[in-house]
Amino acid sequence: MRAFAYTRATDVSGAVAAARDPDVKFLGGGTNLLDLMKMGVEHPGHLVDVTRLPLAAIEERESGLRLGATARNSDVANHPLVRQRYRVLSEALVAGASPQLRNMATMGGNLMQRTRCAYFYDPTFAECNKRVPGSGCAALQGYHRMHAILGASEACIATHPSDAAVALAALDAVVRVVGPGGERAIPIVDFHRLPGDTPQLDTNLRGDELITAIDLPALPFGRRSHYLKVRDRNSYAFALVSVAAALDLDGQGVIRQARLALGGVAHKPWRVAEAEQRLVGQRPGDGAWRAAAEAAVAGARPRRDNAFKVELARRSIARALATTAALT
Ligand SMILES: Cc1cc2nc3c(=O)[nH]c(=O)nc-3n(C[C@H](O)[C@H](O)[C@H](O)COP(=O)(O)OP(=O)(O)OC[C@H]3O[C@@H](n4cnc5c(N)ncnc54)[C@H](O)[C@@H]3O)c2cc1C
Repeated sequence: MRAFAYTRATDVSGAVAAARDPDVKFLGGGTNLLDLMKMGVEHPGHLVDVTRLPLAAIEERESGLRLGATARNSDVANHPLVRQRYRVLSEALVAGASPQLRNMATMGGNLMQRTRCAYFYDPTFAECNKRVPGSGCAALQGYHRMHAILGASEACIATHPSDAAVALAALDAVVRVVGPGGERAIPIVDFHRLPGDTPQLDTNLRGDELITAIDLPALPFGRRSHYLKVRDRNSYAFALVSVAAALDLDGQGVIRQARLALGGVAHKPWRVAEAEQRLVGQRPGDGAWRAAAEAAVAGARPRRDNAFKVELARRSIARALATTAALT
């Protein structure tokens, strides 16, 4: 592991100023970055710890709820307003990692965590366009059971590992960031990128920008929301497929609005607007769930070993929607 300098940021402007140096990386809970440094995947010369910045609050606002970027995953998951109003986010956070990791991990770091593709994580593999642009993608012919079925490219078929980001996509969250040019707001669906020809870029955040908060717009039907994560073992494993769903039912029980996002299937949280549209005006039931599931996987392009994910996604969507509809 390369030697590095460590400093604690005491104010946001100082942290942003430090990050003008491309050798600087922000340090949240360190649960992903330090692993990547130990593995030799990332090698910043200077870590700027942002966890002492006053960015940990979870605040109710007129427009919804603001989650500070350094709020710990467990504090967000257990917050009464998150549990009541944005149930899907609380469930997604609790479905991730382990209690010890959730106690360390921050919301900003969670969004920025990197793929779990084995070829990315292990520098002894020469081919990985995400780690070494232009070197190729070993996963195309190699181990790709966990990999993307939607939105992938010939350069990269990795998936995004965050559970919380999938729930945030369904909730239309907005990521607030600050950089040398001031503040900007990035809708979560535009925050993460598809791989295209530049799989080394996971997000549209610039290297000198700090995430300060995540805004959750008010969502009157957020109580009727649910996160389903399907994985090889029931705890402490990344998603094969996950589903974040929310449903708004009118007085007659007809679906007025729907939110649906998938995890484990693409390089970014996969919001499926077509599937949501199929649900509007329908009564809850197998027919509606099947139509939405078909729309959600319509563009799927599985590989040799991950074709099972297409059917798994269909079934997971149907199950998640049925569970969501049954919530009161
Ligand atoms: C064994 C294991 C199992 C896991 N299982 C799951 C799982 O099932 N589901 C899941 O979703 N996650 C899982 N995780 C990942 C875990 O959720 C992430 O490691 C964690 O959320 C990262 O947060 P952090 O604060 O520790 O980030 P760090 O490791 O500190 O940083 C990660 C990245 O974010 C950047 N960063 C941090 N804060 C900011 C900021 N404010 N602004 C800009 N950039 C920032 C850092 O520079 C770095 O690039 C697992 C992790 C481990 C180790």
